[in-house]
Formats: sequence, C-alpha cells, structure tokens
Amino acid sequence: MSDHDEHVQHTWNLAHLDGSEMTIDLWTDGYSVRVHGGPDDGHDDEGGLRAIEEKLLPKYQAAGYEIASSYAVNDPESHDDEEPAGEPDGKPSACPECGSPVEYEANHCSDFREGEAWLCTGCRWGQWVTA
Ligand SMILES: [Zn+2]
Repeated sequence: MSDHDEHVQHTWNLAHLDGSEMTIDLWTDGYSVRVHGGPDDGHDDEGGLRAIEEKLLPKYQAAGYEIASSYAVNDPESHDDEEPAGEPDGKPSACPECGSPVEYEANHCSDFREGEAWLCTGCRWGQWVTA
C-alpha cells in the first residue's frame, strides 16, 4: 500500500512460491485496474472486478502466485444518481437471456401481476422482484 491510495477501492496482494510479490488494485471508479509487480508490472486494464476475477487472478494463479491477502481500501464511488430511489437489492448484473443491462421497474404490469420487477433493456426479459 502507498500513501496515495485514495483512488483504490480494493487491493489483492499475491505472493509467488519463489518469494516475489505483486499487487492488483481496483480503483474506486469501478473499472480501472492496475497491476504492480509480477510478469505484467505496470499493466492496466479497464475491465474492473470482472477482469480481475476472471482473467488476471486465474492467470497469475496458473503462474504460481497465491492470493496472500485481499481487502477493501475505500468505498467505491457512488453512481446511484441514475438509479431510482428505493431500488431493492438483488439486481441482476445483466439479462440472463441476452446480456443487456437490466432496469428496475417499480410498477411493472403484466397480464397476471403488477409490481416491482427487473426488466431487460434489450429483449425485455423480466423477472419479478421477490422480497
Ligand atoms: Zn435480454
């Protein structure tokens, strides 16, 4: 950790069997990724947590690194301004049918039911919000 980590949201410290260490930082913007040390020292990525968990960590673990520690540094920046107030937890990160973003609809109507639902912005896949 440095003294200039106010932009960092989460840090992973990795240690190799040969004693070398490396660090992966996820920035508070939610997408910037920086690699310090290791085979990709100075590498940056804009894939966010997904890139770290699906790409970088498996890659380095395959290369012999182990996660020595992983901890939150700062809270992520809030991007809630676009979200309607009172949106419940459990929002799907993407539509399971087509992968488009999913929106919260507070008063969705169908033939059978009316109420809170998650709706796909692409194919209009929908799922009722269950408390
Ligand atoms: Zn969809």
